[in-house]
Amino acid sequence: MASGKTVLRLEGVHRAYSEGDHVLEILKGADFELRTGEMVALVAPSGAGKSTLLHLAGLLERPDSGEVYIDGAACGTLSDANRTARRRNDVGFVYQFHHLLPEFSALENVMIPQMIKGLPRSEAAERAGQLLDYLRIGPRAEHRPAELSGGEQQRVAIARAVANAPLVLLADEPTGNLDPETSGYVFDALAALARQSGLSALVATHNHDLAKRMDRVVTLHDGLIAPHIG
Ligand code: ADP
Repeated sequence: MASGKTVLRLEGVHRAYSEGDHVLEILKGADFELRTGEMVALVAPSGAGKSTLLHLAGLLERPDSGEVYIDGAACGTLSDANRTARRRNDVGFVYQFHHLLPEFSALENVMIPQMIKGLPRSEAAERAGQLLDYLRIGPRAEHRPAELSGGEQQRVAIARAVANAPLVLLADEPTGNLDPETSGYVFDALAALARQSGLSALVATHNHDLAKRMDRVVTLHDGLIAPHIG
């Protein structure tokens, strides 16, 4: 349940891209808050700026102006090294395509971010195993991504995203590549994990049924975040 503490805040965020000789203004001062334990859906047409917003929120890109706060701390003035550390510790990403490392097993894919953070191999393996069990893919742990179904691959990607217990999970069309039934259970897995660990999540999705199952639905309208009606 949302406890009221804000874990992610975007304040007056602008982002524009240059296209030849004209400028494409994508975000025009967007404001957004995500509270502890809250799951928010971001539903907007293709090209509206959902990925851009997630990249800014996850410190993968910098806004042209405005500020991103994670756990109350402004991120705009952080050095690149500190931004990387914040991203690694506080943010988990899930994309439409799993982006798992093909030459490693499911278990290893979930261990790697933990080992990069400095956890010993045995501890990383234990947590990875627990996460895969929780997501009901324990028996597939030793398989490489190519040997897994689309739904299994996305559950491994979710386990990897939460392996370092981030504050915020950012998901960009996490079920966009899956059939409706598989979408449903991958979303259920994501939601159960988020609820169980008190994780906050911002999920861009085209799937209105899934969006309705989250705490709140927002959209992007003319470069601003607005409540989603309908
Ligand atoms: P969505 O995720 O809602 O589909 P995006 O954030 O991916 O929207 O893109 C919003 C707009 O910004 C699109 O028109 C896209 O072509 C443009 N865009 C995104 N990234 C870049 C970039 N790096 N350079 C130029 N244009 C970009």
